[in-house]
Amino acid sequence: MSCKPLRTLGCSPNVKTLRLILGDQLNAAHSWYKEKTPNVHYVLMEVRSETDYAPHHIQKVCALFASMRRFAKALESAGHQVTYIALDAPDNSGFEGNLQRLIAEYGIERFEYQWPDEYRLDQLLQRMDLGIPTEGVDTEHFLTKRTELAEFFKGKKTYLMESFYRSMRKKYDLLMVAGEPEGGKWNYDGANRKKFPKNVVFPEPLEFAHDVRDIVEMLDREGVETIGNLDEERLPWPTSRREAQEVLDYFAEHLLQQFGTYQDAMHTDDWSGYHSRLSFALNTKMLHPLDVVNRCIAEYRKRDDIELNQIEGFVRQIIGWREYMRGVYWAHMPDYAEKNALRADRPLPSYFWTGETKMNCVRHSVKQSLDHAYAHHIQRLMVTGNFALLAGINPDELDRWYLGIYIDAFEWVEITNTRGMSQFADGGIVGTKPYNSSANYINKMSNYCSGCHYQFKEKTGDKACPFNSLYWHFYERHREEFGKNPRIGMAYRNLDRMDPEQRAKIMQRAEWVLENIEEL
Ligand code: FAD
Ligand code: SF4
Repeated sequence: MSCKPLRTLGCSPNVKTLRLILGDQLNAAHSWYKEKTPNVHYVLMEVRSETDYAPHHIQKVCALFASMRRFAKALESAGHQVTYIALDAPDNSGFEGNLQRLIAEYGIERFEYQWPDEYRLDQLLQRMDLGIPTEGVDTEHFLTKRTELAEFFKGKKTYLMESFYRSMRKKYDLLMVAGEPEGGKWNYDGANRKKFPKNVVFPEPLEFAHDVRDIVEMLDREGVETIGNLDEERLPWPTSRREAQEVLDYFAEHLLQQFGTYQDAMHTDDWSGYHSRLSFALNTKMLHPLDVVNRCIAEYRKRDDIELNQIEGFVRQIIGWREYMRGVYWAHMPDYAEKNALRADRPLPSYFWTGETKMNCVRHSVKQSLDHAYAHHIQRLMVTGNFALLAGINPDELDRWYLGIYIDAFEWVEITNTRGMSQFADGGIVGTKPYNSSANYINKMSNYCSGCHYQFKEKTGDKACPFNSLYWHFYERHREEFGKNPRIGMAYRNLDRMDPEQRAKIMQRAEWVLENIEEL
């Protein structure tokens, strides 16, 4: 079977063709839909292999199924032939069984699909033998080809995101003036690390109120295991391209102005700050990444109250980090899913599933994830991810958690962020050093520590913040991996300069924390 894009969109009008649309391929602008021919039949299906590969957040399953159902209806209204197979349809027998049945039923002579973004599904479709000519086509969503990043970094051990990002800015001519970065600098991160001020009034996120009782009832009846909370009459996520566009407009008009400034800030009274909450709409392809950045750049050009650091920070996330993570995924799968460079093997503490811990930062980040199926990047990276890294949590268990709990979690972007950026389990492909910190950083960027059972300044004693002793224990136990890394030289110099008695006490406290990790 070939993986080349089809020469013509669609097959010969006389060949009866079945086209599969996966749940994260809701791209209404795909060239598949430009023509309507009676010989082309589309199919979308809800299948147990997708609901069951991790325990997913109830909002994630409902948002995906509701969006798929709307997409199918919209295609049908536009005159296409569509079969929608609900999870509880009596003859639903999973991907392969359903396809075989439709092929026989409609006398299908050719099968087409859009290349899946997940390796698991890519393999499944490549290996499936349906007994008819089969072809995969591009999803027409990403700004880079699957192999482009690997080619860009050919021969390099570490993939430096910044150099890739600069090439993307040039390639798409975004925020560029005569071949140079607008404002003279590529990166304005230095201006983007502010804590929320004391008297902050948090912006309201734009939420919808979809009634998904029918989907929830079906999931209950079918015994699908989910996690997290949902008001069944008020699913807040966009489930159509039009709604996704509304979230984008809302972000551009009301949040972009402060996006960069408070990108890293966290607060107990807030769950999404000035973040866009566009990841679900992007990852299901309801929105195209270029449409997103162009809409925001247009807003920046139109107004004089949006600074360059805000828009540059946002553009970097979409054309930089997002495309980069996808490239890392395709360059390193399937090995990436096995990587555990730091040999982390501790089970994931139970409070990751409940939020019941005295560590205020972890409690807040987990509880809001259970309530909203969302946490922003710094909560994922510097609270839950940081704690797991310092405590040496098994990346398989952690992957399963991140893959299930977030509305936007699909393996290509989840695993690269988790194993790569957050856990250093890839041994340094994504980052040249681990993203970790003691309580100092969390206290600097949030108000979590002031309401915590633990003392953020203490390293030893019953009330000492667990992050503090674990931070030093992490470096001590990973001297072999990081001792000679020039980017971590300062940490090792501080560790080695420490009074030996104090150092022993810190290590003792860390050992206690690790042995009693469930009690924290
Ligand atoms: P904003 O802060 O508004 O950013 C705008 C957009 O930029 C996002 O919608 C997203 O598409 C993109 N983006 C930003 N950072 C990243 C990044 N590091 N990698 C890829 N795209 C990025 N993102 C996912 O989409 N799915 C995941 O499963 C996922 N898992 C993560 C796991 C960990 C441990 C970490 C540290 C990060 C993870 N991220 C994941 C990246 C990031 O946290 C989310 O994209 C972001 O929080 C989504 O919220 P938002 O749409 O409000 O983003
Ligand atoms: Fe988290 Fe430690 Fe701060 Fe408590 S003191 S909120 S555990 S960093």
